[in-house]
Amino acid sequence: MARARRSDGVADCAPLASQVPPGERALGQTRVGRRTHDARGLDRTLPVTDRTARVPYRILVTDDIDAEGVALLAAEPELAVDEVPTLPRDELLARIGGYDALVGRSATRISPELLRAAPRLAVVGRAGVGVDNIAVDLATELGIAVINAPAGNSVAVAELFFGVLLGLLRHIGHADQSMHGGGWDRSALMGSELRGRTLGIVGLGRIGGEIAGRAHAFGMSVVAYDPYVGDARFHATRTRRAATLDELLSHALVLTVHTPLTDETRGMIGAREIGRLAPGAIVANLARGGIVDERALVDALHRGHLAGAALDVFTTEPLSADHALRAAPNLMLTPHIGASTVEAQRSVAVDVCRAVRDALLRGELSRSINAASIDDGRGGNVRPALVLARQLAAVGRALLANRGARAVDRIEVSPGDALSGAREALLAAAALGVLAPVVAHERLNLINARALAAARGIALSTTEGAADPPAVEHGAADYALAVRLTGGGQDLTVAGVAHPATVAPRITRIGAFDVDIHPRGTLLILTNRDVPGVIGRVGTVLGAAGVNIAEYHQARLAQGGEALAAVAVDGGVGDDVRHALLALPDVHSATVVPLLTE
Ligand code: NAD
Repeated sequence: MARARRSDGVADCAPLASQVPPGERALGQTRVGRRTHDARGLDRTLPVTDRTARVPYRILVTDDIDAEGVALLAAEPELAVDEVPTLPRDELLARIGGYDALVGRSATRISPELLRAAPRLAVVGRAGVGVDNIAVDLATELGIAVINAPAGNSVAVAELFFGVLLGLLRHIGHADQSMHGGGWDRSALMGSELRGRTLGIVGLGRIGGEIAGRAHAFGMSVVAYDPYVGDARFHATRTRRAATLDELLSHALVLTVHTPLTDETRGMIGAREIGRLAPGAIVANLARGGIVDERALVDALHRGHLAGAALDVFTTEPLSADHALRAAPNLMLTPHIGASTVEAQRSVAVDVCRAVRDALLRGELSRSINAASIDDGRGGNVRPALVLARQLAAVGRALLANRGARAVDRIEVSPGDALSGAREALLAAAALGVLAPVVAHERLNLINARALAAARGIALSTTEGAADPPAVEHGAADYALAVRLTGGGQDLTVAGVAHPATVAPRITRIGAFDVDIHPRGTLLILTNRDVPGVIGRVGTVLGAAGVNIAEYHQARLAQGGEALAAVAVDGGVGDDVRHALLALPDVHSATVVPLLTE
């Protein structure tokens, strides 16, 4: 995709190949990541010296990227590759100006300073998953695609998991230490087996799935808790579904977490959860530091409630030399080496080099984590509608989840006429609204949301014309938008209007209820019996909790029947407030939806 930034910051999408024949990239032509003017107002196109010269893209490869990946780039006649060891900051700064792409690992910091010193740079490739070393926001602002390789290391993590687990059960570390110290302590090293144990997996994504497959080979029985994936994935991985985390804890003799670190998963395995595991269980965290509460883990190990634990990731890395974890008994510690295998490094190198090649030569940016260049194909501004689509989907997802349907099977977007040119982008935005709370954030954006949703078995579709245009001002119906979600045998439609020229977008329908509310910080959705006094009592609870109501829209289907209140509030609404609302007479449900407003 060649992207020419317009002055409004919106990037046009068109296949690079349609503008530039392979091997005939003329200097000064628009290319991927190029734009005529950047955020500083500088002309980022090349000086036009010879408009017809055949000039290869120049790629700087650093940080010992595996040779198989480098070979893939070097095999292309239109790509000129310079391979260098990790360079000191100043040297890299001096060189970067001549390159169209840079491929590296975590050792090279892609700082704002470096990006600003790189007028030609169109693509940054990271062989690995983490992009903490890259100034992604500035790269996005400058129109530089950032590409990573999230999938290549799942097997490496899965194998490390079994390595540390077997190490714990067979006391391999102690045995080795004792032998090197001159010992022969066979009686002290009686171990136990994996066979017949129940493995409990939290998060049945890429790594969780790889672990499930291998656990069967060891004769383990496998049960997982992941409310965000459908039954098909459980079936494919021959894994029993636990409906709740507590159910998983009651079965698991080995508990392992493989979720991203989110608000929901931070501290998810704490003292209470560890206490619900059978005495003698084992806990592992090779995902992200903080999902298992470190203090609670140390305590359970000292008390002997857990037979062992394994950690590869830590709340703060590197782990301090005097950290309490280092003194905990039966704790296998590794320094975040889940992905550190030759094969994983080769796999991520090949993966990222292929994606960088395709970005440069074919404009293929679906692997870019930051390129959200979307318009409606007619030059119209659909950004408000994209934001609204995400919000409508987030509201629908939260309501369905509150009704027990947490795995969404289908997302259907119905845009009004004026938005129909952007229907695919709107679908991506709706997928983003559904997925953002449950998948690793660094891998999710408007470009990759659809692919990720499809990979998780969510069917995506659009229908013509805004379903059931809401009662809005004249002309606005063309900018109406409905998002219908299906999951767990239920479906729910949330609709709204986002006219670019008029005031803020509005949510106009939630299920069967007509509402009219401007989404901001947090939307609180209550269902209640339509009787006098409810609004006052809700207001009192929110007021007492210091929650400022911006708008309160009460809707009902029939007098005295079921009513729905959509309450827009400025800040957040805590779980305590939600419970206080649920305790009110006549309030049936309370759903809190944090909303992004841009
Ligand atoms: P993934 O996105 O493929 O899978 C994550 C799964 O967690 C998803 O299926 C999601 O539905 C599930 N999930 C999200 N929130 C949940 C919740 N509250 N309860 C239960 N399930 C929930 O990710 P992945 O590639 O399998 O990676 C898993 C983790 O491993 C990530 O945190 C990743 O950063 C980490 N990782 C660590 C290393 C390492 O070196 N140790 C290497 C690679 C990945």
